[in-house]
Amino acid sequence: MTIINDTVIIGSGPAGLTAAIYLSRAMINPIVFMGPNPGGQLITSPLIENYPGAKSISGCDLMCNMINQVQYNNVELIYESIDSIAVNNDRTFTINYNDDNMITRSILIATGAHHNKLNIPGEDKFSGKGVSWCATCDGPLYKNKRVAVIGGGNTAVIEALFLSNIASEVLLIHRRDQLRADNSDINKLHEKQNIRYIFNSTVTNINGTDKVDSITVLNTLDSNNVDIPIDAVFIAIGTKPSSNLVKDIVNIDELGYIITNSNTETSCSGMFAAGDVVSGSLKQAIYAAGQGALAAVNIQKYLRRR
Ligand SMILES: Cc1cc2nc3c(=O)[nH]c(=O)nc-3n(C[C@H](O)[C@H](O)[C@H](O)COP(=O)(O)OP(=O)(O)OC[C@H]3O[C@@H](n4cnc5c(N)ncnc54)[C@H](O)[C@@H]3O)c2cc1C
Repeated sequence: MTIINDTVIIGSGPAGLTAAIYLSRAMINPIVFMGPNPGGQLITSPLIENYPGAKSISGCDLMCNMINQVQYNNVELIYESIDSIAVNNDRTFTINYNDDNMITRSILIATGAHHNKLNIPGEDKFSGKGVSWCATCDGPLYKNKRVAVIGGGNTAVIEALFLSNIASEVLLIHRRDQLRADNSDINKLHEKQNIRYIFNSTVTNINGTDKVDSITVLNTLDSNNVDIPIDAVFIAIGTKPSSNLVKDIVNIDELGYIITNSNTETSCSGMFAAGDVVSGSLKQAIYAAGQGALAAVNIQKYLRRR
């Protein structure tokens, strides 16, 4: 079946759903492809405490509210993933999904990103129960507690700095013998009194019963294992954007994130991007939602002048 649409939104996280609300209220009926993870990354997060207007809410409730609001605005939701996109000569796009296709005049890519995982025992079991990939989101839950940050790059150093203002002690565990981050941030880290460095080490297990209570750390030089009591583990070993669909169509940065201008336009006319998949994004729900709103406004302008 081939249908010609004004706009297709790929992704149903805060970016895609916010864009859908704005576009539908502007009388442009977008179609939202929900993808492999309807509701996006937040759906499994037990507690969100930094989304304005929702003092304390589960990720599932927040995203269900957004989906309900999108449905209230009569937006068509398709519970499929897009397999590929083709750019046509007449400035339209063909999007292919599940042996079907659709033609659209504009597209919003809101496919998000995912955090790299350690793939060790306890990581999935205690996700949201002491295991986190976001200090800004979950750090305040561990006031005066002892936490570990795993990683040694810029993200790990910034997470450790943030947590050092909240936790009683921060263990920074890195598999190499030194950090690989900006010197200015490393200098700030060295000024902190409550950071303990554990180098040449990897975490092999995250232990606990209902929540995290310790980690097993392997010293890679002498192969010794030690169990360290801990209240939370922040994994900061990088993120990957879900940009495979468009990596040969639009400009991406060296990590695969989509490069946009300040109007959320990509290098391909008619294709917009918003949220975590965008280079330089804050990787926070409110930022993704804001970019979704901005993209919606710019898609309207694009369709008017097309
Ligand atoms: C455990 C956890 C806790 C977090 N806690 C907080 C918090 O407390 N506060 C906060 O502000 N932020 C938090 N974040 C970050 C927040 O979740 C992200 O910044 C936000 O979800 C990004 O929104 P997005 O719309 O860009 O993408 P995402 O939420 O990642 O959504 C991407 C969407 O794209 C879809 N998709 C992907 N590929 C395809 C495809 N091929 N076809 C169709 N659809 C596709 C997926 O199904 C998904 O619906 C947390 C993240 C995690 C992982």
